Amino acid sequence: MIAAGEAPLSVSPLGEADQGPPPGTGCGQRGRAGSFLACVRDVSALRWHPDDVRDRARGAFLGLALGDALGATVEFMTPGEIAAAHGVHREIVGGGWLRLRRGRVTDDTEMSLCLARSIAAAGGLDLRDVAERFAAWLRGGPADVGNTVRRGIRRYMHDGTLEAPPAVGDAGNGAVMRMLPVALATLADRERLAREAVAQGHLTHHHPLSDAACVHLGELLHLACLGGSRGRLRRHSDAFAVQVPAFRFDPYRGLATGYVVDTLQTVLHHFHRSDGFESCLVAVVNQGGDADTTGAIAGALAGAYYGSEALPARWLRRLEAPVREEVEALATGLVAASPLLQGGEGWV
Ligand SMILES: [Mg+2]
Repeated sequence: MIAAGEAPLSVSPLGEADQGPPPGTGCGQRGRAGSFLACVRDVSALRWHPDDVRDRARGAFLGLALGDALGATVEFMTPGEIAAAHGVHREIVGGGWLRLRRGRVTDDTEMSLCLARSIAAAGGLDLRDVAERFAAWLRGGPADVGNTVRRGIRRYMHDGTLEAPPAVGDAGNGAVMRMLPVALATLADRERLAREAVAQGHLTHHHPLSDAACVHLGELLHLACLGGSRGRLRRHSDAFAVQVPAFRFDPYRGLATGYVVDTLQTVLHHFHRSDGFESCLVAVVNQGGDADTTGAIAGALAGAYYGSEALPARWLRRLEAPVREEVEALATGLVAASPLLQGGEGWV
């Protein structure tokens, strides 16, 4: 992987060293509106190399599938139950309540594949094409499907609408778990990212917390794919937690349910304190709960940040070969068609 350089420190609008603040500090302590704007401007200083971006995109999509396959074994278990059964769960072995074959992925990866295939085929986000692919996937009898996702796809199959009505019960993690392809396809265009993140989410989930989680994860994926430093990503999450306090993740409450707040807090807590891809994912899935989805989201983010060479070879060997090959190809294709590699100038 080619290391991405970053712009000289002197261009930072914050006038501070490009070193992440210690946990609990950063933008969040600088005053609400001003701090967020400063953080957003700050990322404009990123520099990147196309080979590095492609590598990080592959790392992200492979990481998503690995986290899904790793976490599915311990989905719905408590940390204590996991410890009793596995000690520390750190191998892709299948099983779990879905009795999966070793290396098999679940709805998190399958729905991400639907979105990625659609964006690649249509040359952009075509919600009706995505909905058709979701419907075909549901008709095919997936091993697992969330209740809100099922209801949303059935609504489309019944009336053809492309947006679920707002609902207080739609704050599950089913929209954010499939966000990665939209992030890869919109690299360098934050406005398009925000628009499309929410639009794809509303196919099944129409709730402000789901929307916020989709956009924040997408922005972190953009930063990570462009080689943003640990400190920049952390500052961005700190600013997000000031904007949307429900997502404060420090101190971490230890909840890893399918509620999008619990899910994203689990991912942010472990990702921002991680020192490697494997250790990040092991920490996340051993929280139990919705472990395949927390694993998938953390896998995408950590895969983008640490790059494809950080993915454990023994995990990659366990992943089903057709899935491994397709996610790599789609990640590369989506990035190649993104505004970044089609002439974009940077992440603003
Ligand atoms: Mg799943």
